Amino acid sequence: MRVLYEGKAKVLYEIEGEPDKCLVHFKDTATAFDATKKAQIEGKGVINNTLSSLLFRLLEEKGIRTHFIRQVSDREMLVWRAKRYELEVVVRNITAGSLCKRLGLKEGQKLKRPLVELFYKRDDLHDPLVCKEHVLLLGLASRGEVNSMVAIAKRVNRVLKSFFKDRGLLLVDFKLEFGLLPDGTLAVIDEISPDTCRLWDIKTGEKLDKDRFRFDLGDLMEGYREVLRRLQGG
Ligand code: UDP
Repeated sequence: MRVLYEGKAKVLYEIEGEPDKCLVHFKDTATAFDATKKAQIEGKGVINNTLSSLLFRLLEEKGIRTHFIRQVSDREMLVWRAKRYELEVVVRNITAGSLCKRLGLKEGQKLKRPLVELFYKRDDLHDPLVCKEHVLLLGLASRGEVNSMVAIAKRVNRVLKSFFKDRGLLLVDFKLEFGLLPDGTLAVIDEISPDTCRLWDIKTGEKLDKDRFRFDLGDLMEGYREVLRRLQGG
């Protein structure tokens, strides 16, 4: 199979005779801080594929379009081939990460309403925060498309927040990517996993996501396995 794209955590393969679909392969690589911190973590790809598949299925059930078709193996999912927007859409419910750094806020403050932020996917510029006008100026998406992405991101937040809450997990923040499916529909693509979400235990506040790796808070796989156990158990 021909590689269409290889990222830090995933490889995208073309499928012969199926131009509208492709295969996502989840690797075991973990990276943080612009990939200056890097490690191989055995089994991470399997968990992220399983969790992403489960969460994409949940969104589809709730009427939110995604690129997901089905999970085909422990490390692979079949998806619709999408035209990706060079944007990361972050939704926050609780202060953490770059928001705290940028605005001098204390971590763990509950936000009155979800905050949606846009970042320009450009490694060489370190994925800068952009506003809607910047998106238009750069030609990354139209005004209508950005408005739809923000509206969908808020819907995704409502679905995921309540799903995680029922399983004893606090959805602090998460990142979404969007693309246009072959039929022209705007859809959530990429992955939704503890690599791209901050998830805290509701009772203890324990961090069960990639911050374990970023800040050496404990075994990454222990956290990810706990998330998997709760989502599958529920
Ligand atoms: N995030 C991501 N990919 C990125 C940047 C952020 O998946 O390239 C996720 C991150 O895991 C967190 C949320 O988006 O759940 C918000 O991240 P933040 O802006 O705080 O950046 P960070 O400090 O995590 O790099």
